[in-house]
Amino acid sequence: MAQLTFDDVRKTFQEGNNEIVAVDDLNMEVRDGEFLVVVGPSGCGKTTTLRMVAGLETITEGQIELDGRSIRGMSPQDRNIAMVFQSYALYPHMTVFDNMAFGLRESTDLSEDEIDDLVTETSEMLDIKELLNRKPSELSGGQQQRVALGRAIVRDPDAFLMDEPLSNLDAKLRAEMRTELQRLQEEFETTTIYVTHDQTEAMTMGDRIAILDHGELQQIGTPMECYYEPANEFVAGFIGEPSMNFLRGTSDGGVLRMEDFSYELSQSTVESIGSTTEITLGVRPEDVEVVPEATQTNDVAVEVDVVEPFGKENNLYLKPEGSDTDDTIIATVGGRKSVNEGERVGMRLPEEHLYLFDRS
Ligand code: ADP
Ligand code: MG
Repeated sequence: MAQLTFDDVRKTFQEGNNEIVAVDDLNMEVRDGEFLVVVGPSGCGKTTTLRMVAGLETITEGQIELDGRSIRGMSPQDRNIAMVFQSYALYPHMTVFDNMAFGLRESTDLSEDEIDDLVTETSEMLDIKELLNRKPSELSGGQQQRVALGRAIVRDPDAFLMDEPLSNLDAKLRAEMRTELQRLQEEFETTTIYVTHDQTEAMTMGDRIAILDHGELQQIGTPMECYYEPANEFVAGFIGEPSMNFLRGTSDGGVLRMEDFSYELSQSTVESIGSTTEITLGVRPEDVEVVPEATQTNDVAVEVDVVEPFGKENNLYLKPEGSDTDDTIIATVGGRKSVNEGERVGMRLPEEHLYLFDRS
């Protein structure tokens, strides 16, 4: 059981005369037993964050606390924190059994019998008992992944750190392991920080998501909070597939003027944006309605530029009529709704589903 607190944590690397800020004043708390997913684009500081918790990287400024005690300066062995890497980092010359037993032999006083029991029990849980005598080279990627997990679990750590552990698996196996990891975490209730750049993993696996960009925490919250109440334009665009549509506009009295069309805002929305004039309008593809033709205020006459069929749904790329740009707005509609490329239809953006971001 463990709670991890990040207190103004900063990490910089010196490269020649350049200072690279990998993690910038990070403040967050990982609750006892929580599954926290840290997500963000490549280079945003995810791995560095984990490595500081594991003790593989020094902390430049600030504190990381495990149950209220600073772990700064504590050696990795003394932290009782297990890290699972993307490259499974198994010892190639050792059997699965010895790979799993290695940490126990190195850092505990357990007898070989006790170690045998623990490894066997853990291997049963992960369905790899039959593989205990094999070498890593005799295993599939999915099996290697389980062994890497087993090696972490068998030590009964205070916290798990996982760095993109599923990214080398094919899509089907990844989906399977996603559910399995969640099941294991629920069973053990071990505090876990799970790093990924994959927003599907972020949305489906975590109790909460922490979204990083350029070393800075953008938002921390439940998947639903981050999806429906994004703290800023970055979060709004990062979470959701296809991504939220963004249109640059200028508010002029009660009207939002975009490049290709205008939108009359209600009085309450006008009041909520106050004196802000430079606004980016955001709308999720599933909230864009496609109607036979533009008939109401704020409906926009559009042409269906491209139809991307996915079976259960279609993504329609809509181009406002008379537009001089190649910009399109994506609408996700049900798969049975038949719409053809080149067709002229109406686009309706319900005001209650609009996000307005201050661009000034
Ligand atoms: P992520 O895991 O999110 O892709 P990283 O934590 O690996 O990001 O990297 C964050 C930033 O820190 C990047 O700009 C990366 O180039 C830089 N960085 C990471 N490790 C080092 C290092 N050992 N030396 C110099 N720069 C590094
Ligand atoms: Mg990384």
